[in-house]
Parts: sequence; structure tokens; C-alpha cells
Amino acid sequence: MSTAHLRRGTAEALLADGTTVTLGPLGPQDREAVLALHTDRMSEESRRLRFFGVSRTAPLLAADRLCGEPRSGLLSLGAWVGDELIGEADCEIPEDRPETAELALAVADEWHRRGAATLLLEHLVHAARGRGVRVFEADTLAGNRGVHKVFADLGLPVHRRLDQAEVRVRVPLDESDEHYRAAVDERGRRADVASLGALLRPGSVAVVGVSRRAGSVGHAVLERIRRGGFTGPVWAVNPHAAEIDGEPAYPSVAALPAVPDLAVLAVPAPVVADAAEECGRAGVRALVVLASGLGAGEARQLMHACRRHSMRLVGPNSLGSAQTDPDVCLDAEFGGAFPLPGTAGVAVQSGGVGIALLKRLAWLGIGVSSFVSLGDKYDVSGNDLLQWWESDGRTDLALLHLESFGSPRAFARTARRVTRKLPVLTVDAGRSPAGRRGAASHTAAAATPTVVREALFRQAGITATRSIGELVEAAALLHTQPLPAPRGAVAVVSNAGGIGILAADACADAGLLLPELPADLQKLLPRGASAHNPVDTTAAVGPAELARCLEALEHSRAVDALLVCLVPTALTTDPDHDPVRALLEGPGRRRIPVAAVLLDQEVPVRYLNGADGNRLPVYADTASAARALAHARDRARWLAEPAGREADAHGCDVKTARSLVSGFLATSPGGGWLDPVGTADLLESYGLPLTTSVWARDEHSAVVAAQALRRLGYEGKVVVKAYWAGQVHKSAAGAVRVDLRADSEVRAAYREFVEAFGARLAGAVVQPMAAPGVELLAGVVQDRVFGPLVILGMGGTATDVLDDRAARLAPLTERDLTGMVTELRGAPVLLGRDGMPPVDLAAVRSVLSRLSRLATDLPELAEADLNPVIAGPTGAVCVDARVRLEPRPSFDPYLRRLRRPAVAEEM
Ligand code: ADP
Ligand code: MG
Repeated sequence: MSTAHLRRGTAEALLADGTTVTLGPLGPQDREAVLALHTDRMSEESRRLRFFGVSRTAPLLAADRLCGEPRSGLLSLGAWVGDELIGEADCEIPEDRPETAELALAVADEWHRRGAATLLLEHLVHAARGRGVRVFEADTLAGNRGVHKVFADLGLPVHRRLDQAEVRVRVPLDESDEHYRAAVDERGRRADVASLGALLRPGSVAVVGVSRRAGSVGHAVLERIRRGGFTGPVWAVNPHAAEIDGEPAYPSVAALPAVPDLAVLAVPAPVVADAAEECGRAGVRALVVLASGLGAGEARQLMHACRRHSMRLVGPNSLGSAQTDPDVCLDAEFGGAFPLPGTAGVAVQSGGVGIALLKRLAWLGIGVSSFVSLGDKYDVSGNDLLQWWESDGRTDLALLHLESFGSPRAFARTARRVTRKLPVLTVDAGRSPAGRRGAASHTAAAATPTVVREALFRQAGITATRSIGELVEAAALLHTQPLPAPRGAVAVVSNAGGIGILAADACADAGLLLPELPADLQKLLPRGASAHNPVDTTAAVGPAELARCLEALEHSRAVDALLVCLVPTALTTDPDHDPVRALLEGPGRRRIPVAAVLLDQEVPVRYLNGADGNRLPVYADTASAARALAHARDRARWLAEPAGREADAHGCDVKTARSLVSGFLATSPGGGWLDPVGTADLLESYGLPLTTSVWARDEHSAVVAAQALRRLGYEGKVVVKAYWAGQVHKSAAGAVRVDLRADSEVRAAYREFVEAFGARLAGAVVQPMAAPGVELLAGVVQDRVFGPLVILGMGGTATDVLDDRAARLAPLTERDLTGMVTELRGAPVLLGRDGMPPVDLAAVRSVLSRLSRLATDLPELAEADLNPVIAGPTGAVCVDARVRLEPRPSFDPYLRRLRRPAVAEEM
């Protein structure tokens, strides 16, 4: 059954011990394997527990049941390791009671207690939920401890009913989701870390494709591993050489004295897949592939070998990896210099960025725990590295350079957790200036790739920087200084007034606050100094005075961080008078972070080594220092806020919404925009506050509708809007008439529509006039990779001009909702000012959380654009909504499975 790997409809995932298994439905071709599973691979005792007796025919019956022609009443899943079927899970869905399915499970003895049953169940739960199953039921023997433990650990509630020797187990699938998800995530983390051991803590390494020629890539890597002092054996593989540099070389991986944990493939692209297959057969557990330019076929074969033989893969197009842990000491890369040992984890997609980053870190004096050049990221990604660093006991700072995201939702979940423990910094590469200009709704137009990525970083607590320089500058501060209080108030202190003003401007640009300082500061300063923020000490300040000033500020509680800017003057050439000494000789680590700026410094950032081994980041530029402080402040804010639960959206009618969607897609299989009636039905099923709209086919019905709606309208007024299929912006086309009171006005409006739009006109929508309020844009759009993105913006039709929007990836938390409102430049308008009352924020938040839930529940919801939502002091109402649906399979971002690179996807 080797064809199961990478096949459509199958998935790969990791067992608790890091083994790769392939999961997929069983079919007639699997009969032999299923029979073997239930006979050769299970002891008599296991069989007795599975089949409640020792009947010889039971395995045959099981094989018949599972491997007949596919039928709708059966969901079955096999788990393969290599070509061996190691387990199966299935459920029978009775036609008359499709919400309750009867579960069965079998795992080969040899594979017990390695998480195979749990993994099978997780995938079966996913498949069954997709079929509308609500409950799993199973009969088990009371003595079957193994299976009871599997149920107990799953993370779903389990109800047991004892009946003599049998226990009837009942597992509701729709309850306590958060608990289940957390359990799944934790299993995923442990399995991932287990699978990465061979890669990041290998006991032995082979370099495959080492030519004798010095200067070739393989040769260089081999030499570096040897020189780096790798703690285990390292072997060279070369079919044409018996020795290289005086050490033996081996003709093949199979001929090595022992199976290496890790193989670095330094062979050319066309033979990478064969070399990988050879490694896999020999039992290698991890590969680093250096070659670039693999064709699609070669890529597929490489992935196939990795999945089939349980190998994790770095690359292709990787520069290699380096581990400085003294127990490992592996320098398996051919980029720059072996990094200094330390505590920063570094993973880069581009090798060039990696070399630059390592150089700068080395120069600065930040040591590295592990460095991985991810290259084309077919398998191992930033997400894996974050999980490794989270638990390697060494890493306390993570630096990532990512150009693309394979599974952004899994990445976001991991990052959200890891950023609580250590700072995670990234260079946000690939920001594209080109938005989606052609988009037909304001919401879709706002969802540019940059906006999506920024939302991801913000929600995960990642420190996103715009260049390698900014990354290193922020890292320099976060690595050595304490975090400021979340308020982030800064005192700027300089010995030259003009520089202080520049630094104050830089702080303002970075969004940092410069508060008033305590009045008694003045006493500590030379005559003529200004103790206002920015503090100008004048050039006359000596080290002792400056030190006293800094200490007073540190303990004043008025500020949370210090920015000290010094310029050399004629006075400072006398070392006794050099104010820099105040920084060096001050107390060790201060209570609050300090960033220094020395304007005569040539490098952008370096450390000054102060007393007690305290390292102080010193910048050449005020803007760099201010930005670094702002990043630290943002991290402090992130840590100060509770993680937050998913925002509440009660009373959503999923069933109705689902049937509306499937009804529409049945008649429009390619998807499209819903008409006004369908739009209203769908949005109202999720409790979204749409204004009353009455559909009028002609002038007369428009007048009748207006008469009925008039008393609901503000000052007895109505609104009439022309409708035709495919319309985009109505008011721009002259299709909206507001403020209509008399029948004659309604009549006239309709007549004008007929005249203007002729045969196109399908009819009109009549609404009560909404009370005046703040016009907002609220919308959601599905990103194919990142999932739903929720947008809140100022201004109805003026939203593009105002260009004031906040975006978050769904599912939204309560914290996201608060952030979206306060982040808008127009927030004061919503929060109330100048005697104007605040708008009903609870109503606005409810709109956003309902949109988030709608898009999460219905992957077919391609976009929903509520524009405007008119928010007043009591309530918010949407007067114009558009919804587009697209056929799209449901996607469970929580299902554990290994990512498949696009190149390896079966065509
Ligand atoms: P479109 O966005 O297609 O141009 P809208 O239905 O959003 O059309 O109407 C445009 C503008 O007209 C809205 O931004 C709002 O200012 C006003 N408007 C529309 N319907 C109403 C209503 N029921 N009550 C109050 N104002 C409305
Ligand atoms: Mg509109």
C-alpha cells in the first residue's frame, strides 16, 4: 500500500514517538493488510479484547466489513507506517440514527502505547463530524484497560455504563471543544519535538555526496562538521572514493558502520530523491537537502521517501543547520561562520538572510542555540522550530525570517503560546505594495497580504520588524534589558539639547509616551540644564551627575524606560569627564530598560559591557533606539493582557445557515453573490442586525412597502434602493434614495430608477431610514491560506478615502475586539468626545464576533461586506450587506497532519 503516501484523501501525521504515519480510508485493496492486522499483528489476548472472544471467523468478518465496496454507512481509516498497516479505526453510521455512530478500533500489538489509537481517533472524529455524527458509541470489555485509557486521554468527555463484563462507552463529539483542542495541540507538540530530535540533536551524521575536491559543498560541510567538534561519529558517503582527507569514505549509506540519525544530502538535484530513498531504507530519521532547483517530479519523490520512511526534512535549497549545544556541537552548514554558542534560536528561509543575520548577531555578541536554514521548506518550518525552542531548555529568544506560510493557523497557535515564554521576532518579508485593487467589495479590497500578515503577527504576539537591521536592533534590547511596564513612558536624557529633541521626535514616531518628569530632578543637574522631558543635561554634565539623574529617573515611577543620548564634546575627551562612564559604571541591570544612543558610533548597534556583566545596547541612531523600545513596550503589553477566550456569539443558528449555503450552491455550483433576500436570511441566522428590508418588484409595491415601513424609520422616513443582479456600488450608480417621506417621493424615486436603469432593473429594496450614527464598515473575507480575516473600518461609502481599518484573523478573542476598536484612528468618534455620546460598543463588538463565527463555521463564505453598519448610542444596524459564497471543502485547522508542500501535491 505504498501508494497511500501523499495520495489525495490521505494525510500524514506524527505518532507520539515522532514516527510518521499515513492515514487514509480503507478499501477493497486493503483486505490482506486488514486481515494480517487482526491475525498476525495481534496476540490472542488482543484479539479477545477486540472481538469479545476467540472466534476464528471474527477477523475475516472484520476484513469483509471494512474492505467491501465503499458504502455511505461506514467511515474507515487505516494507519500505515511504510507499507505496514499498523492500525484501523472505523465507525458505522446507522441510516435511521445518523447522529450516533458505532466505533471500532484495532492497533497492532507492536504499536501499542505510541499514540496510534489516539491519532486514528482524532482523524475519525474529524471525518465523522463532517458527516454530522454527534456521538461515538462503543462496546468494550471492562478489562480492556488500553482502550479505556485511550478514551480517557482523548480530551473529549467520556460516559461509561457498566453492564456485567462490558462497558458501553459514549463520546459526544461536539462538547468541550476548547479542552479537546488543547489536548490535540499538546499531543501535536510532543510528537513534533520527538520527531525533530534526529535533526537537531543527532547522535551521528552522514554527509552523502562528498567529492574529494576541496571547495565542493559536500566537502565543505564534512570539514565543518569535523572541525566544529561534533560529539558523535560523522561519516562520508561517496561511491567512488575509499577515503577522503585521510578518513574512510563509504560507498553507500547502507555500508556505514551504523545507521546515522541525520544525513546531509550534498548530491545534485536529479539524484536527491534516490539518495533520500536509500537513506530511508537504511533507517535514517532526518535529512538536510542542500540542492536547489528540484523539478516537480523530483520533489514528489523526495517527499514520498521522507513520509514513507519517517524522515523529517530540512530544505531543499538549505544552507544546512548548526547546533551549538555542547552535547551536540554540530556545524552542518556551508554559510557563514559557526555561530557563537548561546541562547538565540535562528531559522531563516533565505540562506543569504541567514548568513547576514548570523554575522550581525556574532558581531553584536548574541550567541545562537540552533540555526536552521529552512530553504524551500517542504517539511520542517518555522512552526516546528518554535516548538523545539519552546522546550529545548536553552533557547530564550527566537528569530525568524519567513517568506511564506504553509500552515499559518497552526503557526499562529504555536506562536501565541511560545511568545508567552520567550520573545519571537521576525522580519516580515514579502510585503507587497500592490493591494487587491480589483476587489468588488471594500472588505476584500482591505485584505491585502500585508494586512493579513500583520494581523497574524499581532494576534500571536510576534515582534514583527521590517528589516534585518531592525530585527537585530530589537533583539539587542530584548535580549539584555528588562521589559518596560506596558504603559511604555520614556525619559529622554541627552547632553545636547538638539539631539534630545530628535530623540523625543523618534519616540513620538514610534508611539512612545514622554511624560512630565519629577520637579526635583532639576536639583541633580548642572546649571542651565532643563529637567523637562527630553532632559537636557548640557555638555557640562559629568559622569557622577548623570548617574544620579538616571538613578533618580529609574526609581521615579514617572517613566518605564530610559533613552540616553550622548555626543562627544570638547569636555568629554577628558576621561574623568566622559558621561558614557555613567552608563558603564552605573548599577548592573536596572529595574527598567535602558537604550543608549552614541551619535559618533559607526555601527548601527553594539553592546557596552557595564558593571556586573550587564550589557547595554547602544545605537548610532535615535530612531533605531526608539523603535527597539517600542517593540519591548508592545511585548510587555502582550504579556500583560490575558490570553483571552474566543469572543462570545450566542444564538447562532448553524443549521439554517448551512442549509442556506448548500441550497445556494446547489443552484449556483460555481458560487457567486447572494441576492438581497438570501443575504438577509443568512446574516440574520447569525444574529447580525440587518435593518428591515422589503423587496418591491414595481412602483406600486414600493409605495405599499414604504407605507408599512414609514413608522419604523427615523422621522418617519424611508430609503429606496434600485437592485439588479451583479451591481457593485449602488450610490455611485445613483441607485440609492434616502430621506423619502411622502408616497409621491417614493413613486418618483422608483420612476427615476426605471428611467435610469431600464431593463436591468430587477426591482427595489425599501428600508426604514436609520437614525443618524457613525457609519462603519464591518466585513469578513476568507484568505485561502490564512483563513477568515475580519475587518472593521471607519466610514460607509467614504471608507476608501478615510483608509482607517483594523483587521484580525478569526476566530476573534475578546481582546481582538477591543484592539480593533481602539486601534482605529477614528476611535475617539466611537468612544465619545466633545460632548458626543459613545456609540453602542457592545453592539459593534457583537457584529464582529458574529462575522468571525459565521466565517469560521462556513468555509464557503468567501466574503461578507456590511457597509455601512450605522452605530448609534443604543444599537447598531446594518443597512447594506453583500455576501459572496464559493464552493469550498471544510478545513479543520486543528486536525493534526504534516504539511504537504504544493510541489508534492498529487496532480
Ligand atoms: P452602496 O454602498 O452600494 O453605495 P448603501 O446601501 O450602502 O449603498 O447606501 C449608501 C449610503 O446611503 C450609506 O452609506 C448610508 O449613508 C445611506 N443609507 C443607505 N441606506 C440607509 C438607511 N436605511 N438608513 C440611513 N441611511 C442609509
Ligand atoms: Mg454600502
